Amino acid sequence: MRAPGIAPLRGLPSGGVSDQADLLQSSTERREALKKLFHQAQKCVRCQELAATRKNVVFGAGNADADLMFVGEAPGAREDEQGLPFVGAAGKLLEKLLGEIGLERKDVFIANTLKCRPPGNRDPQPLEIENCKEYLYGQVELIQPRVICTLGNFSTKLLREDPTGITRLHGQAEVLVVGRRAVRLYPIFHPAAALYTPRMLETLREDFARLPELLSLEAPEQPQFPDVPDLADEQPAPESVDGPEEAEEDQSAEEPDQLGLF
Ligand code: URA
Repeated sequence: MRAPGIAPLRGLPSGGVSDQADLLQSSTERREALKKLFHQAQKCVRCQELAATRKNVVFGAGNADADLMFVGEAPGAREDEQGLPFVGAAGKLLEKLLGEIGLERKDVFIANTLKCRPPGNRDPQPLEIENCKEYLYGQVELIQPRVICTLGNFSTKLLREDPTGITRLHGQAEVLVVGRRAVRLYPIFHPAAALYTPRMLETLREDFARLPELLSLEAPEQPQFPDVPDLADEQPAPESVDGPEEAEEDQSAEEPDQLGLF
């Protein structure tokens, strides 16, 4: 359910990307739709405090057609400065662990539960998570990963729609539907938590080592949804959130750096 007062995201059909579209969409078309979603996120003002204090919206970056997607918590100061996810110490560790299983950042897509930095690195608030989750579900629908690795509690609880914590769940994969897409969800500890705790780092490394096996499994069967009319194409755009169409086109003309990464 959408939070009150929130306009549907343009570029994504109101009921999500229909399964028919799913089959027909080439990776190029999905990437273009992802760019559209990126531009919408850049202008997002759903959370007043975050919109007023952020330097950049950190949409996420990586391979727009990745089999493996990581979902962290929220951007920190470095990420907010650069507009890119996981560029600080936790990001260095994430890259190192990826390297140990033969992967690089460019092979995966990295996103966060929140696209904006909570001031002072406070925890994301429930309403912020609710406001932002449509972007994450949109990313999942358009990237179509087979495996989503949730990093820590916030993304795990959101995508499992359950309050069970990461300590109980880490290292256990399950097939579930995220938005409208069936994926193998694989919760692991957040790299930031493992930075200064050698035992947790060891656990994280062991959990990471199972990723190649998970990626080699057959893709989960996709659920069937009835066709949903693409209301986004039929209704006038809500001006309060996005502004007029011409403004969007003007913005797309100057593509920020992140776009080179997906
Ligand atoms: N921690 C996160 O959860 N996300 C980032 O992008 C950086 C640190």
